Amino acid sequence: MQPRGGPLSQLRRGHEELVLDLLRRHGPLSRSELGKRCGLSRTTLHDILTVLLAGGAVVTSAQDTAPRGRGRPAETLTLNPDAGQAIGIDFARRAVHVAAVNFAHEIVGSASEPHAADLPWEDRVELAERLVGTLTGGALRLGALNAIGVGVVGPVGDPGDGAASARRLDGLPGLLRKRFGVPVLVDNNTRLAALAESIWGAAAGGQDVLYLRLSHGVGGGLVVGGSLHRGMYGLSGEFGHITVDPAGARCDCGGTGCLETVASIRAVLDAYNVAGGRADDVPALVAALESGDAVALDLLRDVGTRIGIVLAALCNAIGPGVIVIGGELTATGAALIGPVEEALSAHILPISRHRVHLRRATLGEAAGALGGIALVLHESPLLSRYPATEPDPAEDS
Ligand SMILES: [Zn+2]
Repeated sequence: MQPRGGPLSQLRRGHEELVLDLLRRHGPLSRSELGKRCGLSRTTLHDILTVLLAGGAVVTSAQDTAPRGRGRPAETLTLNPDAGQAIGIDFARRAVHVAAVNFAHEIVGSASEPHAADLPWEDRVELAERLVGTLTGGALRLGALNAIGVGVVGPVGDPGDGAASARRLDGLPGLLRKRFGVPVLVDNNTRLAALAESIWGAAAGGQDVLYLRLSHGVGGGLVVGGSLHRGMYGLSGEFGHITVDPAGARCDCGGTGCLETVASIRAVLDAYNVAGGRADDVPALVAALESGDAVALDLLRDVGTRIGIVLAALCNAIGPGVIVIGGELTATGAALIGPVEEALSAHILPISRHRVHLRRATLGEAAGALGGIALVLHESPLLSRYPATEPDPAEDS
């Protein structure tokens, strides 16, 4: 890894990006074609290509149409489809999700594996490394990797919360830097999922998007006026901690009766089992719903109604054009989404009723990891006013 940040390294980085971008836009080019298009001196281009070839970002191949007979056949340079430019990792509560993008900015693959909720960071990082190793059938090269975008549970980005964030992340960025040798950007994993859904998924092209994820936790993210919203203290999107029942159960956040206490996976399964049902996981609950189990249907109606009321309140406050609902609990399908839609429609400002489109998320469990990649590439207009969130370097020194 070259030293970063200095003016010379930034200049070289800029030149590398220029060359990579030309290959991205034009496909394979010969050295002389690249030279004409990039405007760099012969020596500079030679140096840049030497670095890109050595790292594996760019590969050479003999040009089929080259004139034969005299000298060496003309050589073309092309982006290596198996070289990773950026990795996204979502360290969710009970699973690690990874995804990678190559220098052509194509997603080359994603992978996930569940784990126990209390697995230490060292083991989660090891799991992430192993999962990255499985992408592209194990052919993924990381010699030219630029950076890793990481999603974690909980607020990220509060400048006044350095010590608390450091405790929670417990050296995670340092562990990743040690393993992969590249900078690590960290943000809230659900906000990253919202970003990915707004770039590539159910809300692609949306300028005002509300994303809600119903998983082991309940959270979300907002795109407001074409920008991913982080909030003053990195707290934007904590929809799971909106109170839905002031006399309700205690929440992990320290509050009482939060949406998460009724709409998380655990909360729904517990409520179902208390009501006489029997399901240890979401697939079992889905099976009960499919068999027409009235207890399960009634419960999902109640949960969906509470979610819909919260969404209506959020819509009235923010005015999104699209609501995206993701997370494992959406596998319950119409039993949940139907009541959500009904309550949303009943409680939203009438003028907004037919202007907000509710959609299911399309990127699945890889959404957070894909958002990490978007954060690293920093190309989406949704991020043009969004700061890159690198953790305090002192934290893992
Ligand atoms: Zn809470």
